[in-house]
Amino acid sequence: MGRITVDEQRCKGCGLCINVCPKKILKLSEDKLNDKGYSFMVCFNMDECIGCAGCAMMCPDIAIEVER
Ligand code: SF4
Ligand code: SF4
Repeated sequence: MGRITVDEQRCKGCGLCINVCPKKILKLSEDKLNDKGYSFMVCFNMDECIGCAGCAMMCPDIAIEVER
């Protein structure tokens, strides 16, 4: 069981975290942009997060925090 927090303003929507997540519970925002104009990553099923931290390790912008 884990939980992630995304810094929406740091995220540039590259999608690396989305591809690496083994639970496939991440996606890009569809109707919201951050202040820089990027779609940002959102987790749509936090109950499934296992806290593996793969997403955080992959993020080039250090936008994800993981709690276990
Ligand atoms: S910690 Fe692991 S399971 Fe949770 S969102 Fe990140 S990659 Fe997916
Ligand atoms: S890897 Fe980081 S910058 Fe890229 S979409 Fe995920 S949170 Fe955003």
